[in-house]
Amino acid sequence: MNDATRVVRAAMPETGQGRPLMAGPVFAAPYRAVGDPADVPYTYGRFHNPTWTAFEQALAELEGGSALVFASGMAATTAVLGAVLSPGDVLVMPTDSYYTARVLADGHYRGLDVEVRKTPTAAAPDARLLEGARLLWLETPSNPGLDVCDVRRWCELARAAGTLVAVDNTTATPLGQRPLALGAHFSVSSDTKALTGHSDLILGHVATRDAEWLEALRTWRTRMGAIAGPMEVWLALRSLVTLDVRLERQCANALGVASWLAARPDVQGVRYPGLPGDSSHRLASAQMTRYGPVVSFTLASREAAERFLARAELVTEATSFGGVHTSAERRARWGGDDVSGGFIRMSVGCEALEDLLVDLEQALEGG
Ligand code: PLP
Repeated sequence: MNDATRVVRAAMPETGQGRPLMAGPVFAAPYRAVGDPADVPYTYGRFHNPTWTAFEQALAELEGGSALVFASGMAATTAVLGAVLSPGDVLVMPTDSYYTARVLADGHYRGLDVEVRKTPTAAAPDARLLEGARLLWLETPSNPGLDVCDVRRWCELARAAGTLVAVDNTTATPLGQRPLALGAHFSVSSDTKALTGHSDLILGHVATRDAEWLEALRTWRTRMGAIAGPMEVWLALRSLVTLDVRLERQCANALGVASWLAARPDVQGVRYPGLPGDSSHRLASAQMTRYGPVVSFTLASREAAERFLARAELVTEATSFGGVHTSAERRARWGGDDVSGGFIRMSVGCEALEDLLVDLEQALEGG
């Protein structure tokens, strides 16, 4: 079945005679539960919720493994790190992964006596790094640098070393890349981004094929209370239906924007895994089915980047990415990423490419 069909049907929960096709969110704290709780499907809102169930079933279809929804991408990240790591363990992660994941590893987990080893996303997989490691954390394509690592090869090495592998799949979404099929134990996502795509909610999920890890993560969620509100999850389910349509337009636009930018003398270092000349293109093509909505590039200086962002009318200056509206930011304004002052991460939306290019041109030439 094609992605377009899978995603539309997966996000449509089962219904019955005279029942809505898309039931609304279920708001509940306690449920009526008579007798042995084990015999009652829903008992208490921190444990489970029918709206979560519908979203998780849809995600399971797309990920090829069972899924659990969390309050945010970071709640999903901390669930994997927290459920897997104990004092004395070794965590291997990219030098260039999402900033907050690195802060968490370097601060909280080092403080808990976890050894953190780092390697750049673009570096070749290296078995020596995995010696004695409990968890390998990958993020590909990486945010904001858009480097790509060889997930299959890392997973082969990790399995031989007895190391678990988690892939942050936020930039790609499960319609762009399926980490579990590439050999990872966990596929982790910030669903705040392209998966839901409307810039109106914060959410995350983890998918796994391993029943024991699924239960460990569920227990973590229940005990830590890292749960999502039913309204957000319902909005996410509604948004998921259009994931294929949105990505089709966004990825085509992103390639169009990246190719156009790459031809300009006033734009340096254009990165997009879908660009045939990009250093990550070969690997990306081997493991991704779409290259995502994010493009990055560098203008001559911080001032040039600020002027560009101020002049662009179809590019809203904002953080985050994956939404239907084109947005961008000068990433260095946050600190924490190894990028120059003129580096811009752009998330390409669903507008008409032709209009975007006209706007980009006037924004660049005004500088
Ligand atoms: N992973 C990546 C790659 C991200 O870009 C982000 C957020 O920007 C996260 C995880 C965290 O997601 P959230 O903001 O939903 O907690």
